[in-house]
Amino acid sequence: MILVVGAGFSGGVIARELADAGNQVHVIDRRPHVAGNAFDEIDSHGVLVHRYGPHIFHTNADRIVQWLSRFTEWRPYEHRVRSVVDGRMYPFPINRDTINLLYGLDLDEAGAEAFLERVREPRDSVRTSEDVVLNSVGRDLYEKFFLNYTRKQWGLDPSELKAGVAARIPVRANSDDRYFTDVFQAMPMHGYTRMFENMLDHPHIRVEVGVDFAEVKHERFSHVFYTGPIDAYYDHCFGPLPYRSLRFEHEHLPHVTQYQPVGTVNFPNDHAYTRITEFKHLTGQEHPGTSIVREYPQADGEPYYPIPRAENEALFKRYEALAQAEPDVTFVGRLAQYRYYNMDQVVGAALAAARRFLG
Ligand code: FAD
Ligand code: UDP
Repeated sequence: MILVVGAGFSGGVIARELADAGNQVHVIDRRPHVAGNAFDEIDSHGVLVHRYGPHIFHTNADRIVQWLSRFTEWRPYEHRVRSVVDGRMYPFPINRDTINLLYGLDLDEAGAEAFLERVREPRDSVRTSEDVVLNSVGRDLYEKFFLNYTRKQWGLDPSELKAGVAARIPVRANSDDRYFTDVFQAMPMHGYTRMFENMLDHPHIRVEVGVDFAEVKHERFSHVFYTGPIDAYYDHCFGPLPYRSLRFEHEHLPHVTQYQPVGTVNFPNDHAYTRITEFKHLTGQEHPGTSIVREYPQADGEPYYPIPRAENEALFKRYEALAQAEPDVTFVGRLAQYRYYNMDQVVGAALAAARRFLG
């Protein structure tokens, strides 16, 4: 019997691959549901919401789409975001229209490119998230759109975070206002939870939710795939590995058919929350009311994000060295590998881990 700890993307994909290859798999999750952070549910007002914040599936990897498509149909969806600065909504990521609207200009694409070239603060070495943004858009746009959002989201200055965090956000001189540009962008037609139920529906898979690893770790398993926080597995023996948490404040607005013009609105400089997402944009659901969620970053609570900084990665490496010395346990996923993975990347990592195991 193989044990899979965690029923999120990493655990779900591994369990299915191993079961398809003829193995008996026991999946546990300490939370009372499958799907990990991608869990969605119909709220008490009948609207499909994501309990742990907005999840939009996007990828350039066709084999990952093919693999997941065994368990769901898809609804095409291109996510759009606006950012509120000084009380006005701007397209975000920054594009030509953001610049024109903000500065009262009428630049074409070449003009926007020249503008960015003029305002950027070139950096020889781009190491931090501050470097990334100053190097591409300069100080004014950095202070209006990035500085305070990042401080709020991470409790850190952009100069304290690795370049990869802010590098997730592109800068465009054209008018493309999509948040992602991947070739495949879609939502599971009947939700993530349904997709996971289909993935885990296999005669060789037994799922138990509401069970912590601590409750079963004395039992004998031929192999363990662990997808929770790696420091917790080792009882924080080198000290806690920092993860960033969020508090999600869900709200239903009856008789409001549309609350905001796009799926997500960011608030870099106002409020204690970073963003508001209105789920009907993502899911295409029709309903006389609407449901939204606000995300309040916090240090303590359920771990959601690894915090990409050199000292954290050094601490992770110490835990990873312990993990590598353990032939019967495989650590996979955003929390176990301490990587700021998107869902498609987690699927890729989980498929690779399962295939390595199966030889
Ligand atoms: P998780 O989903 O965290 O699953 C790990 C599971 O292990 C959890 O369910 C946990 O309960 C369980 N577990 C942990 N410890 C134990 C234990 N001791 N015993 C039993 N069970 C345990 N990605 C995108 O591609 N697009 C998006 O739009 C997007 N939006 C996001 C928005 C937010 C707010 C957040 C936080 C993440 C977002 N992501 C997005 C990232 C996405 O959530 C992750 O890539 C993915 O869910 C990671 O899957 P995982 O299986 O590695 O981890
Ligand atoms: N970011 C920002 N302003 C924004 C949106 C993002 O400064 O309006 C920065 C911030 O540091 C954030 C990072 O870019 O953590 C990545 O943003 P993304 O939307 O990808 O974060 P996620 O959806 O993973 O929370």
